[in-house]
Amino acid sequence: MNIVTRKFDTLVIGAGGAGLRAALQLSEANVKVAVVSKVFPTRSHTVAAQGGMNAALGNVTPDSWHWHMYDTVKGSDYLGDQDAIEYMCRAAPNTVIELEHYGVPFSRLENGRIYQRPFGGQSQNFGGDQAARTCAAADRTGHAMLHSLYQQNIRAKTHFFDEFFAIDLLKNDAGDILGAIIYDIETSEKIIIEAKTTLIATGGAGQLFRTNTNASINTGDGMAMALRAGLPLQDMEFFQFHPTGVAGKGMLITEGVRGEGGYLVNCDGERFMERYAPHAKDLASRDVVSRAIAIEIREGRGCGPNKDYVYLKLDHLGSDVIKKRLPGIRDTSMTFLGIDPIDEAIPVFPTAHYTMGGIPTNRFAQVVVPVANGEETMPGLYAAGECACASVHGANRLGGNSLLDIVVFGRAAGKHILKYLETNPYHKVLPEGVAESVLKRIERWDEKQEPDVESITVPQLKNELQQVMEENCGVFRTEEVLEEAVTTVKSIKEKLDKARISDYSTIFNTARIEAFELENLVDIGLATVISALARKESRGAHSRMDFENRDDVNWMKHSLYFLENNLLTYKPVRTKALTVETFPPKKRVY
Ligand SMILES: Cc1cc2nc3c(=O)[nH]c(=O)nc-3n(C[C@H](O)[C@H](O)[C@H](O)COP(=O)(O)OP(=O)(O)OC[C@H]3O[C@@H](n4cnc5c(N)ncnc54)[C@H](O)[C@@H]3O)c2cc1C
Repeated sequence: MNIVTRKFDTLVIGAGGAGLRAALQLSEANVKVAVVSKVFPTRSHTVAAQGGMNAALGNVTPDSWHWHMYDTVKGSDYLGDQDAIEYMCRAAPNTVIELEHYGVPFSRLENGRIYQRPFGGQSQNFGGDQAARTCAAADRTGHAMLHSLYQQNIRAKTHFFDEFFAIDLLKNDAGDILGAIIYDIETSEKIIIEAKTTLIATGGAGQLFRTNTNASINTGDGMAMALRAGLPLQDMEFFQFHPTGVAGKGMLITEGVRGEGGYLVNCDGERFMERYAPHAKDLASRDVVSRAIAIEIREGRGCGPNKDYVYLKLDHLGSDVIKKRLPGIRDTSMTFLGIDPIDEAIPVFPTAHYTMGGIPTNRFAQVVVPVANGEETMPGLYAAGECACASVHGANRLGGNSLLDIVVFGRAAGKHILKYLETNPYHKVLPEGVAESVLKRIERWDEKQEPDVESITVPQLKNELQQVMEENCGVFRTEEVLEEAVTTVKSIKEKLDKARISDYSTIFNTARIEAFELENLVDIGLATVISALARKESRGAHSRMDFENRDDVNWMKHSLYFLENNLLTYKPVRTKALTVETFPPKKRVY
């Protein structure tokens, strides 16, 4: 097949906060960068981030990057790598100032400094009083960040391939990644992007679950591409459920609401978090609050006719605070529930939100793979943002740490790529016919399909996948339900081989893209349930009812899942920090 090839120094797959921050670093240094995005860049999911980004600026309460590091290690339930966490927390204040200089319109305090709100799991002085560390642009922080980063990239003349879908990575016999095949969603044209360096920045996989806070584009494509290229995925058993998704619908109500003074109540009007986290209460870590809500409902203290949600109360904050600090939340609540939170409480339920696992990387955003006596970096291959696992979030991410992660590690990737290109200035040779197997995979969904009542469709299979993930791999898990999930997801994968795109005789490319996305989701789903079944302890977001305690002796290690034979291996947590003492594991109380 004749296929157009374009050559760049760097291919960045993904135009969210991570991809755009890296691309900016490179374009400003006159590197020839291609950014590929399946949606127009400013529609990337970062745009939906609400509450803000953590940095120890100390504008509202005393603060220090070291306290931020302590909170992040504790929040991760001691699975986070402490060198990467130290790097991120130290870099945070300058990163915020840099974003401000790029034009991000942060909200302001009376004295003109950047506004910071309290978020869950934040403390002063290593576990003391609540800190206020989250820098916010009202409750539309991600929107402000993404638009500023996009404008800066336009100024720096970054080359964008908008509405192109990356299908697969391309590699030579030595295993070096040399670019990717992309698919023009409008015209079906396939293009090879050949690159000396590749950054995967494709975001998370929230669409694995039926009720989730994510955009429909969050289908884990980059992670699945990595799996197909023979790379592992790390810590996939850890998926974050946000305590306050709109019940039954999923839209996010930011933790910033509780940061501003909102709180949760059960059907008796009881502020139940006081029982589960006497000190931090509603601002305990997300895994703790989600479990508490699930228990309240299981024990019959839920609200509403079916007792299947709890209420988030914020009417006592007054209309001025709600209109100034939480305008987006008020909009969401009025649009989707017909409820004005100035007068009434919002019904909420723990909802699938964030992929803690991902492509294993180090603090320079280089992809790392296991070898006989440890691990090594993949030359020229990088991953950053929600698709990567640095691992700064470990078993549970703290709110406000993801917007930080994407800019800190997007920037780190850009910086390291510049260094790499200095010593690797030439393209490696792309082998003849390297694209053939990928093109075959594309062809399967490119074919015209006649309606056929016998075979199952892609949307039906996606529903099956989302249902089993939600029912069998949610806030609480057991051996029995996870075994059932592994069997079901494997059978969905088999059925997908024979499925057709839809019931319609005219197939649009958007429907073809959904087929590619489902192939990706199924592989990510399998990685998640197999890793969850194997981990016989409860840590962070992974709560096993049959193994209720954290087990540091046997399980303080990262899982690594490979597609081939569904192989699972483990590697140690990097407990050694860069310059400060390690925070040793302790009982986690809030
Ligand atoms: C509702 C909501 C609110 C949130 N609020 C906060 C918050 O207040 N603070 C915080 O710290 N975190 C928050 N988060 C988390 C945070 O927003 C995300 O983790 C972060 O924005 C992810 O950024 P990213 O750059 O990794 O990916 P994304 O912003 O998701 O971008 C992914 C990019 O990859 C592209 N892409 C994906 N697959 C392909 C493909 N196959 N081909 C081509 N392009 C592809 C997409 O087009 C997109 O450009 C929130 C998350 C949600 C869901």
